[in-house]
Formats: sequence, structure tokens, C-alpha cells
Amino acid sequence: MPEPKDAAARRDVPPVICYPVETLPQPDLPLYQAARAGARLVETVTVAPRDAATITVPGGCFLRMSSVDGPQVGDLNLFAADDLSERFYSGKTRALHGTHITTGDRMWSSFPHLRPMATVVEDTLGWYGMDQFGGSVHDVIGTRCDPYTGRLLSGDDYHYCCHSNLTRALATHTGLPLAEAEMHVHDVMNLFMCTGFTRDTGQYFMKGSPVRPGDYLELFAEIDLLAVLSACPGGDCSTVHSSDDAACHPLLMQVFVPADGALDGWVPPARNAYSRTHGV
Ligand SMILES: [Zn+2]
Repeated sequence: MPEPKDAAARRDVPPVICYPVETLPQPDLPLYQAARAGARLVETVTVAPRDAATITVPGGCFLRMSSVDGPQVGDLNLFAADDLSERFYSGKTRALHGTHITTGDRMWSSFPHLRPMATVVEDTLGWYGMDQFGGSVHDVIGTRCDPYTGRLLSGDDYHYCCHSNLTRALATHTGLPLAEAEMHVHDVMNLFMCTGFTRDTGQYFMKGSPVRPGDYLELFAEIDLLAVLSACPGGDCSTVHSSDDAACHPLLMQVFVPADGALDGWVPPARNAYSRTHGV
């Protein structure tokens, strides 16, 4: 179709933010950060390269996810510890906070719960911001590398994509059969991954992560959480994923418990208050 005469005028219409977040309940970051200062380490789990691991984080505690040994990205799934149907909702988190998350942003749960599962309290890569390619870190725009897309694109079966790693780890943790556990695996938060959309074609891109050993992202658990983290076969995602070709490194998960009384005044968020009558 030829362009209409007013094409330029139509393109010039300014955008409107879909979800203004001014009315969202704000996390009490100073309270969280003060509680974190006196918190003690109670559990450490290492995620092996091209594999995933689980850790439970009681509500009111902190989960630090760190780079060790070498640059590595991770794919994170979050569940309510007592209810696998309440899981991280990357699409709505993206709609509320944008394509990438950092300190002060929250990870929201699926319908009908839609409440903050976790709040980012510290991000050592917060300095990165948005680069000249439109790339940034900790994205909620990717899905997770998986053997199905790999099969479509290459015709091969590769078993250590994040989707499969998450599935195996969740099955081991819950005792569910592999096929049942797989149905709970969902779109991830891409820890440390540097991604964006190309400006000309709008394609999802990745580039070498700026993460270095010692960098971490830390979450405050708003509810009791089960976290499942995969050390992506893409390593730092500078070249390829979905194969054994990239150099891969472990990731570290650590839980910190605040001192008694440090969170006085904090209450876990309630489930969403919508009536669920849907107009009937
Ligand atoms: Zn991956």
C-alpha cells in the first residue's frame, strides 16, 4: 500500500505510557536496606554451568545472585513456595517497569494473584543503564532458551538449554514427573543478560554481558519463594546459546535473614483484590 498523505503526521503522534506507575504501592527501600545491613547468611547454593538449582527464600529474607569465576548470565523462575500456580509474570512486570529491571523494581506474580513476589534492592550493574544499541541488563523481554526453538532452527536436540535445566531442577525439588514439572516452567528474568530490540528490524538481540565476578543482583522476598536459577549454556551470551560452544561459569545463590525486629512495620503483600466476577 502507498503511504497515505498524512503518514508523517500519524507517525508524529506522541506515545502514551500504557501503565503509569505513580499509583503503585511503593516498596520501603530504606527499611529493606536497613534490614539487609544486619542480615546474616544462612544458605548458599552453587548453580553449575549448563544446569539449574533451586533455593527457598522465606518472605522477608534476601536472595543474592552472584557471578563467580567468569561472566555468566542466568535464567530465573520464581514461584510462591507453597503454590506453583503463583509464578513470576514477566509480561506484566515488563508492562509496569519496562524491558529491564533494576533497584526499586518489582517482580510481579501471575493472575489472579498479581502481587509483588520480590523487590530488587541492590544491582551492582545499575550503572550500565541503556547503551547506544538500546541494550540493558536483567531483561524481562526474553523467554528462555529452549530445545523446541532450537529444534525448529537447527534440527538438533540440545538438552541443556535453560528451559530443560529449569525443568530438571524443578522436578528434582518437587518430586513431580519431568513432563509435569515442565508445565510450570515460565518466561524468565534474564539475570545479567544484556539484551534489547534492534532499532531497524525490532529483533531481539543479545550482546556480551557486562557482568564480572563479584557482581550481583539482590532481591527482597515479599512472599515465601521458591527460586530456580539456570546458568545459561550461552555463558555471557556474546556469541551463541543452545549448544556446548560458549564458555560457561557457575552462579551463586545466597539467602540472608534479617535480625529480629528489623522489618517491624512490613507486611507481605496481599493477593490482588479484584473480585474475579468478570462482569457476570
Ligand atoms: Zn538460557
